[in-house]
Amino acid sequence: MSDCIFCKIVKKEVPSQVVYEDDRVMAFKDINPVAPVHVLIIPKVHVESIMELDPASDVLKGIVQTVQKLSKEQGIAQDGFRVVVNCGPAAGQTVNHLHFHLIGGRNMGWPPG
Ligand code: AMP
Ligand code: ZN
Repeated sequence: MSDCIFCKIVKKEVPSQVVYEDDRVMAFKDINPVAPVHVLIIPKVHVESIMELDPASDVLKGIVQTVQKLSKEQGIAQDGFRVVVNCGPAAGQTVNHLHFHLIGGRNMGWPPG
């Protein structure tokens, strides 16, 4: 997707603060963090939303591995953290390239807004 901002981040055409990268997955700091730790974990291939992700794919495996790894590395695993996937307009998805928000470092309320 040539006009997708996250595809451009994957191709390093747009700068980002990368915290993890392998052949399937990339993780970078959210440009507008809502907590002390706010990382976006994305598949390197363009997937519009969680509705288009193959549940049996290695991408999903890689994302879960990255959540586990980064939550420990970023020091939020012990206290707890949130993983958020917004899907579609009612949920507030603004970038149509699947991304998992990894958010932590403060206490959070429930239900989400
Ligand atoms: P969502 O509302 O779930 O689609 O989340 C999109 C997220 O992408 C927001 O938290 C934005 O702050 C973040 N974002 C948008 N553009 C960039 C960028 N160039 N680098 C890092 N994060 C971005
Ligand atoms: Zn994309």
